[in-house]
Amino acid sequence: MNRDEDYDNLIRVGLKSEYVGVRNEYLSKRISEQLVSDQTVVGVQEELFACPCCEFKTLSVKGEYDICPVCFWEDDGTTDHTSYSLPNRMTLTQARNNFLEFGAMSESSLPHPDRGRLDMYSK
Ligand SMILES: [Zn+2]
Repeated sequence: MNRDEDYDNLIRVGLKSEYVGVRNEYLSKRISEQLVSDQTVVGVQEELFACPCCEFKTLSVKGEYDICPVCFWEDDGTTDHTSYSLPNRMTLTQARNNFLEFGAMSESSLPHPDRGRLDMYSK
């Protein structure tokens, strides 16, 4: 195997883990933009758990402190909307209200630039 093939395989492994659970429609759109031609991604989407804050299906496991790539809530297992979440420094109700207002659990957690993360996952 030459160096290009090594890098290609590393890129494939990285992309495969980065896009777990992402909608085929979103992938088709992004690839079509990059290649400047219509491309269609087909295949079974991985079924993920819904984030307790934004409700998009983004979590591979529940309650394991994964950070939702859509709203950036850290899934500490909180399901009670009024309990204070230490890692998130707010209640689930506050985070949900922030998501409705800013599109993220807090205004300061918004990424720059926004790459269409609200279109990436199913609800
Ligand atoms: Zn979320």
